[in-house]
Amino acid sequence: MNCPICQEGEIKENERTYYCSNRKYNKELEENEGCGFQIWKKAFGADVTKEDLESLIEGETIQKTCISSKGSEYEGLFTLDDEFKIKLSFPERKEREADKNGIIDIGKGYKKDDIVVWKTIAGKEISYDQAVELLNGGRITFDDFKSRQGEDFKATLVLNQEENKIDMVFDN
Ligand SMILES: [Zn+2]
Repeated sequence: MNCPICQEGEIKENERTYYCSNRKYNKELEENEGCGFQIWKKAFGADVTKEDLESLIEGETIQKTCISSKGSEYEGLFTLDDEFKIKLSFPERKEREADKNGIIDIGKGYKKDDIVVWKTIAGKEISYDQAVELLNGGRITFDDFKSRQGEDFKATLVLNQEENKIDMVFDN
């Protein structure tokens, strides 16, 4: 694999970096001279393998699982910038498509237009069909919602079209 900067040197590696064989260490000046190509073997918490390096030098974008400073994982895209350093970008989040009822499953809830029905409301699991009914203006009464004290209570869920949310109402 040849160096992308000087085109002549070979890519070498040491414990922590990939570098160019045209790099020389000047003992008097105590610094490196010659070709400045250098890629860290760890970038944004991800290991940069030789195959990765090859892809990057060929101008490809590679996807890596990175680790933030707080320890959480995320997907990152690596490319080499104009100075042949690794540049990080993020994969585009694909917009989830609505199903035939116009509903998007957002994980913790079902969303239609701008209204969300949470999948769990006061300890009660709301099914997909019930969410569809609510979002279409239906009312559903349950008598087994759970209060914070763990007691069952009865209430009705109903679409509040003015505020674009689902209200819980108590019929006394
Ligand atoms: Zn070089």
